[in-house]
Amino acid sequence: MIQLNLKRRVLVRHFVAVGLILALASLGANWAFSRMVLGQVDQELLDLALTETNLTTADLSHPFHIHERSPGTGPPSFPRLDKFIQIVDLDGQIFAHSANLGTARLPTSAPLLQKLRAGEKVGETLHDFGEEPVRLLSVPVVIGNHAYAIQVATSLADANATVRLARLLFLVVSAGILGAVVLTGAMLAQTVLRPIDQIVRRARMIGESALAERLPHPGTQDEMARLVETLNDMLARIEQSFDAQRRFTADASHELRSPLSRLRAELELTLRRPRERAEYEAALRSCLGEVERLSHLTGELLMLARLDAGGPSEAPVPVDLVSILREAVKRLGPEALRRNVALVMDIPAEVSVNVASTALSHVVANVLDNAVKYSPLGSEVRVSVAIEGSAAVVVVSDAGPGILEEEVPRVFERFYRGSAARRLEAPGVGLGLAICRALVEGQGGRISVDTAHGSGATFRIRLPLAA
Ligand code: ADP
Repeated sequence: MIQLNLKRRVLVRHFVAVGLILALASLGANWAFSRMVLGQVDQELLDLALTETNLTTADLSHPFHIHERSPGTGPPSFPRLDKFIQIVDLDGQIFAHSANLGTARLPTSAPLLQKLRAGEKVGETLHDFGEEPVRLLSVPVVIGNHAYAIQVATSLADANATVRLARLLFLVVSAGILGAVVLTGAMLAQTVLRPIDQIVRRARMIGESALAERLPHPGTQDEMARLVETLNDMLARIEQSFDAQRRFTADASHELRSPLSRLRAELELTLRRPRERAEYEAALRSCLGEVERLSHLTGELLMLARLDAGGPSEAPVPVDLVSILREAVKRLGPEALRRNVALVMDIPAEVSVNVASTALSHVVANVLDNAVKYSPLGSEVRVSVAIEGSAAVVVVSDAGPGILEEEVPRVFERFYRGSAARRLEAPGVGLGLAICRALVEGQGGRISVDTAHGSGATFRIRLPLAA
């Protein structure tokens, strides 16, 4: 099958639709016009039949004859000249006929007589009466108490010629309208589709390397402008996500390269000369530390990649928030003890939330880990749970350095490390909170931070309560 482009398809459909409409309109108009012309002919015949009846009724003293000329001093009359007239009784016997019939007689068929006897006026078109088609009107009349029929006929040549001329006129006008409509349609399609061609040409040029390019705006306020604006917004979002992806890849490579370089340097240094067993052990232990950091980092990267891929995440189920919090606090106990940080819990006996338990454990562990990590020695980390409407809010606050106001919107970004992390040289690569946000939002919750620089940070994890 031939594939037409949009413009041609629109034009062909337009052409077919307008053509059909015009054909139907012309056929209808032609039919109505020929009916009107025939009606006009019949009316003239009827007028003449009634005139003839009146004249005959008024003149019963003479035998029946046709009044070929206008009677007495009456005005000149056209109708009679080109019409045949015949008076018959209802058995078909002819009583009078106009002279212009010559030896011919108007037909009086049995079915016609039957209809006349039933009092019907009968109009017929005769195709075999003489050289031209003839219209014959037979009208039942009563003259002097007897039933007769007056038959009046005329040639249809003029009427048919008029109808034929009208048909030709309809045809020419329809063809003209069709041509004009198709031409204007083509011009309209050209105008409408030109901006699309420009958009397509520009869009072809926009590749991964030219994502900053935008589609040309038509400078109007119409559908085309809305399409271009929507596509340009989409391009902006794609550009942003490409940039984020590029930054992410660069940051990830950087974070992977540093421990690998350290590992390599350590191994090279150790292998430079034979060493004591204790020295080898110390070197291997240090290498193990780097490997652990690397595997932690790759684990986090993998988790982010999975979250980005939007694959099937663990389905939310009702889980006991309190036991997850207790578990996290217990696991962090040794580290808190080492840093002399007190973990204070102010939580109800039972709160059930509707989330995936592994995601929740990960988030809680991460936020608590940060709180302990950034807390000064001998301070307190408080964990509490508040119920707000249909949500449970886990609040983790510490007495650490807090977060600078300008850093707050960025701490949930990937690889972002704040001034506190750099100043305290805290371990980490800045992925923890990014993962937390993705996990919490994936479970229909929200994570936020309230902080004032120098007076600690308070993280709030809002989770949907189980029904
Ligand atoms: P990381 O802790 O590995 O740097 P995170 O994503 O967990 O990465 O945190 C991002 C940044 O947020 C941290 O570098 C730190 O600057 C800031 N931050 C997170 N938690 C706290 C906290 N409890 N107190 C102060 N700053 C914090």
